Amino acid sequence: MTRPRAYITRRLPDAAVEILRRDCEVEMWPEEQTPMPREALLRAAAGADGLLTILVDRIDQDLLDAAPRLRAVANMAVGYDNVDLPALTRRGVLLTNTPGVLTETTADLAWALMLAAGRRVVEGQKLIEAGGWGPWYPMQMVGQDIYGATLGVVGAGRIGAAVLRRARGFGMSLRYHNRRPAPAIEAETGAQYRDLDAILAEADFLVVTVPLGPETRGMFGAAQFAQMKPTSVFVNVSRGPVVREADLEAALRVGRPWAAGLDVFEREPIGADHPLLGLPNVVAVPHIGSASVATRTRMATLAAENLAAALTGRAPPTPVNPEVLG
Ligand code: NAP
Repeated sequence: MTRPRAYITRRLPDAAVEILRRDCEVEMWPEEQTPMPREALLRAAAGADGLLTILVDRIDQDLLDAAPRLRAVANMAVGYDNVDLPALTRRGVLLTNTPGVLTETTADLAWALMLAAGRRVVEGQKLIEAGGWGPWYPMQMVGQDIYGATLGVVGAGRIGAAVLRRARGFGMSLRYHNRRPAPAIEAETGAQYRDLDAILAEADFLVVTVPLGPETRGMFGAAQFAQMKPTSVFVNVSRGPVVREADLEAALRVGRPWAAGLDVFEREPIGADHPLLGLPNVVAVPHIGSASVATRTRMATLAAENLAAALTGRAPPTPVNPEVLG
């Protein structure tokens, strides 16, 4: 029997490639840091039964049209805003993602950004590096307390709940906002449900962990920032387009919110000339939410397990549209 053909769109750890090799003929884009050009991706898709993709690969109708054999796409991310899910489902192509395995690592980064932005950690290092650390004075580099503050999480699912859980040691009051209340999260964390306007007004630290989709694109703009406290810290570890970046820049210039910690941006990667980087009250990191050695390796192996299963008739561990399996 001929083995299914799998194509991996970015060089992955051997452990992940080995999983696919057990069941499939495997080809892989050999570069780790250089993205596949679109033309190369379309050519690879043309001969593939399955694709293992990353979040910069656009998987859309054009790609499906170029890929007559395609049966499964395993995205190495929990978010799949790079994929036209309705188009895949119409064609009967399975999509899988990597939920759960990156939850704690991404929640850790949300906290790193809360602490760094609230306590001016990066600004402090820059001050020293610039030779600007003068004699001690009482209000030098004062920031915002995390301990005892109110934490609001918008999008309290897996990652958002993990952010809330970490707040226990910081004695925080907890609020969350989803489209509907989540009694299990309330029971576990003691967080209280608020509508969006109320959580914006109450939070000292507001952490965004919603998926990017039509409802959440541009969810945070001038009207939302205007409702935040002038002492508040805004943290985004979801996807960049959830925030209207020009509005955030204007809001930070007038100090409402007081500071921001950002892992994701409207158009990534951003350059050194990005307007937000010119603001002292912004902590920015290059989309490293899930970037620990263990977690990125586990994401790659889970994506490989998903694709191998999907191409050999076994149940994939984490399907997004299992209805196509019939
Ligand atoms: P999840 O478990 O599905 O949680 C998402 C939460 O958002 C759910 O509780 C959902 O609750 C809520 N939500 C969805 N639409 C909403 C809306 N319009 N308004 C308010 N709340 C809404 O997903 P997750 O595993 O926590 O991941 C969340 C997102 O984080 C991913 O989609 C991904 O984009 C991002 N992420 C980023 C990184 C990074 O590197 N920075 C890493 C991992 C994940 P309801 O359905 O009740 O509204």
